[in-house]
Amino acid sequence: MVAVMEGIIFDIQYYSIYDGPGIRTCVYFKGCPLKCSWCHNPESQNPDYEIAYSINRCKQCRQCIDHCDNNAISLLKNRIQRDIKRCRMCGKCVDCCPENALERIGKCISSDMIAEIVSRDCAFYKDSGGGVTISGGEPTAQVEFLKDTLKEIKNRDIHTAIETCGWFCREIIHDLSKVTDLFLFDIKHMNREKHKQGTGVYPDTILENFKEIVSEYGNGKIIPRIPLIPGFNTYSESINEIMAFLSEAGYSGIIHLMPYNRISLSKYGKLGKSDQFKDMGIQNEDELNMIIKKFEDNGFSVLCNR
Ligand code: SF4
Ligand code: SF4
Repeated sequence: MVAVMEGIIFDIQYYSIYDGPGIRTCVYFKGCPLKCSWCHNPESQNPDYEIAYSINRCKQCRQCIDHCDNNAISLLKNRIQRDIKRCRMCGKCVDCCPENALERIGKCISSDMIAEIVSRDCAFYKDSGGGVTISGGEPTAQVEFLKDTLKEIKNRDIHTAIETCGWFCREIIHDLSKVTDLFLFDIKHMNREKHKQGTGVYPDTILENFKEIVSEYGNGKIIPRIPLIPGFNTYSESINEIMAFLSEAGYSGIIHLMPYNRISLSKYGKLGKSDQFKDMGIQNEDELNMIIKKFEDNGFSVLCNR
């Protein structure tokens, strides 16, 4: 009997047009080795299950408290508090809440189940030149599950891509490349200290992995994605350094620009996390147009997720 490979995901989104070519289904894996201050998916960072709490929905009815066998929930200062040391993640509080104020983040699923779900939209992929993108989190944080999922999807003759922060062991590139048609590869900053401040890690491994993929598999296998974070990497010197790195790595072609937006702000509150970028403005349009022009003037073509 063939062992079924399972992992934890937190979402599947359909009909995406910014996560690789054509119309795509995106599967979001849980877990990430980076801690980017501006992360749009803070629920992805923790590799384990989590419970999010929407205080605006909560009517303080105390049903979750009554249903918890582990005395892990209490009402304090008009909001529910969960003691994570006592909590067994049984989900009873989530299931009993009449207001849907509690939400379980993370779902265990097998790779062949993912392949079965995503293959329902094969007609859209074929018509649009699309496929499936595995995102996160950082998909390589569950590398065996990732490889198995991609293999199952490829077995169904579907184009595959992964969105990666690039922080992984170089040794996995070869195996991953067999089942991944396209790497959507984040490049965030060339300055080592700034990269560490913003993400928690130095960029060396990431940049080496980028170069390795370009040199081994060519430009058609990879697209650099640059999150534009005002005050972090949008100034002229930073953009120039990124372009210089791409050229030095032998990359030419399309780049994706991902201007910071504030869509995810409410997620931080629900998870009890502080958002370090909450006071930051959104990307200035004039500056964005100048950045796009700079890349284009240097021979890159730009897809911008405005
Ligand atoms: S998940 Fe289970 S153990 Fe944890 S707080 Fe909710 S009911 Fe209690
Ligand atoms: S069951 Fe839901 S609405 Fe009631 S106190 Fe708990 S979280 Fe709030």
